[in-house]
Amino acid sequence: QGDSKDYDSEVESVCPFCGVGCQVSLKVKDNRVVYVEGINGPANEGRLCVKGRFGFDYIHHDHRLTKPLIRREDAPAKGLNVDPDNWQEVFREASWDEALDFAAKGLKGRGREVAGFGSAKCTNEEAYLFQKFIRQGFGHNNVDHCTRLCHASSVAALLENVGSGAVTATFNQIEHADVAIVIGANPVENHPVAATYFKQFAKRGGKLIVMDPRGQALKRHATHMLQFRPGADVSMLNAIMHVIVEEELYDRQYIEAYTENWEAEKAHLADFPPEKMADICGIDAETLRAVARDFATAQAGMIFWGMGVSQHIHGTDNSRCLISLALMTGHVGRPGAGLHPLRGQNNVQGASDAGLVPMFLPDYQSVMDDGVRSAFTEVWGSEDFSNQKGLTVTEIMDAVHDGHIKAMYILGENPAMSDPDVEHARDALAKLDMLVVQDIFLTETANYADLILPASAFAEKSGTVTNTNRQVQMGRPAVTPPGEAREDWAITTELARRCGMDWEYDSPADVFAEMKLNMRSLANITWDRLARENAVTYPSLSPEDPGQPIVFGDGFPRPHGRARFTPASVIAPDDVPDAEYPMILTTGRQLEHWHTGSMTRRSMVLDAVEPEANCSLHPSTLRRLGVEPGGHVRLTTKRGSVVVMARADRAVALDMVFLPFAFVEAAANILTNSALDPYGKIPEFKFSAVRVEAADVE
Ligand code: SF4
Repeated sequence: QGDSKDYDSEVESVCPFCGVGCQVSLKVKDNRVVYVEGINGPANEGRLCVKGRFGFDYIHHDHRLTKPLIRREDAPAKGLNVDPDNWQEVFREASWDEALDFAAKGLKGRGREVAGFGSAKCTNEEAYLFQKFIRQGFGHNNVDHCTRLCHASSVAALLENVGSGAVTATFNQIEHADVAIVIGANPVENHPVAATYFKQFAKRGGKLIVMDPRGQALKRHATHMLQFRPGADVSMLNAIMHVIVEEELYDRQYIEAYTENWEAEKAHLADFPPEKMADICGIDAETLRAVARDFATAQAGMIFWGMGVSQHIHGTDNSRCLISLALMTGHVGRPGAGLHPLRGQNNVQGASDAGLVPMFLPDYQSVMDDGVRSAFTEVWGSEDFSNQKGLTVTEIMDAVHDGHIKAMYILGENPAMSDPDVEHARDALAKLDMLVVQDIFLTETANYADLILPASAFAEKSGTVTNTNRQVQMGRPAVTPPGEAREDWAITTELARRCGMDWEYDSPADVFAEMKLNMRSLANITWDRLARENAVTYPSLSPEDPGQPIVFGDGFPRPHGRARFTPASVIAPDDVPDAEYPMILTTGRQLEHWHTGSMTRRSMVLDAVEPEANCSLHPSTLRRLGVEPGGHVRLTTKRGSVVVMARADRAVALDMVFLPFAFVEAAANILTNSALDPYGKIPEFKFSAVRVEAADVE
């Protein structure tokens, strides 16, 4: 990883991995990043985790795409069959001119036959351009990205009940809290630098309440660890709120001043006494009561949640419960109080803010609002586009199967790994008659491409990203892209021109200036300011204000300034265990690997630490199966089957198996269920009925 003193230049930027958004200094020698240090960003204060510190060398991997590639006419049928070291059997190199003309010919004028997936790994400017490309160029809203697979249900509930899809308080505010709930999140693995703040909070005496069907490292620091039954979240949270109502621990003044629909919520909660819910959620009534009292009687409390909450068909209901819990206790809008869905990718907040979703233009302005659309088309100098919400990620794949969508432009996403019931998605990708993939590697999705456009890694380009804390941060290029690879904003701009759009951007700064015209969230945040200060939190109230870490202290962006209680009823998981599939499969990430693994599995240190596809089972379950730790098991659901190495892990319940989704050789999403939450349209990745058997592997 290089000698720490041996570098020519250093460039301040942002970690390309998780939503914490740690600021880094990239040390460069001979156009290579040789090592990385944490610097004093607002989210990390110099700290980095193993991915941020050692996960950068994927940038220089031999597999980087350096020239546009066009599928050969004599290539084998589309499938997951391209060897990255021997791609010439399937693709041929092309000039940029030929490649862009080929893309434009395949997309231009095809209207609703075209759909697009952008990426939370790209910058705000790139996300903005991508959604504009689809809306302006093709007249509809069939554009989405991986927020649909992580926190779409959280955002749906927050917009509905609080009026804003972002966090109400930065995670660093935990330093002012005296109680914090972490539910359905494993920050030590997935938001490691945020987890260091949570541990510090516990060490100084804060009450840390961890709720998760799977045990985790934060348990060691928790005052309460509620290892509840998978899928029983709503029952458990309603039981806790029942106690707060029954014992009159709620904040009457706050509720009267700032909320609506309280009486309906109160009446609904009457059906959830802890004594009745205890067996359902697997947590005894006294513990539920103790947690309710601790949270309600605290001076300041925060709630953090992750994909364990959101990735259910009742994901929106889970978030509604958490919002109601914060509102009834008045734990919003003060130092140390607030709601914080821990965002996954380094720019998933920003990409959503920039309108890379099918129902909203930038700043969550509805596509159905005529005034909103005309404000954008005026800036774009273009005609009106559809006033109907577009299709979401999984709906787009269904529309490909139905023959309604025939061409796609995919920038930086990897649906051939990340979609639920992934063979369904892979079959859809194979059916497309034009698939343009823009990426830095020959990903599983690029295997199905008709055209691959070589793009830039984060350390090779300029642009802003927005982290889980609403902090807009400046990313700067430290090295030049390999070969003929180009920055993503520049590729999309050139493709738009060839598709007939009149785009005149010379730099990401031009794009940012246009974004500001219709995004109030960016008021007082300019490119020059970010270049000077590195980060500004939105909302920023003046050109000098570093931004507001806490919002909604004096009301909410909803009618009459009031947040809403939306009662949540219990909805059972879609794919429940039975005699044939008796256990529960849950999927997630590991510390060393990032999402579909395209970057971290090409990082020497990270891949050396965690090189093999694995799953975790309780030691007693392994004994019952007759499998030694390190042996192999076959996991089978109604969708498919994988064989994978098994680890013994007491944190996993007896009837559960945990499978990370970064490994193509045992792709977790071959097994997962595509049933959707009706509001956020997020799939139920966290719960599938599964059969686990011993497997013989040579
Ligand atoms: Fe990067 Fe997240 Fe680790 Fe920070 S915590 S170094 S942003 S992966």
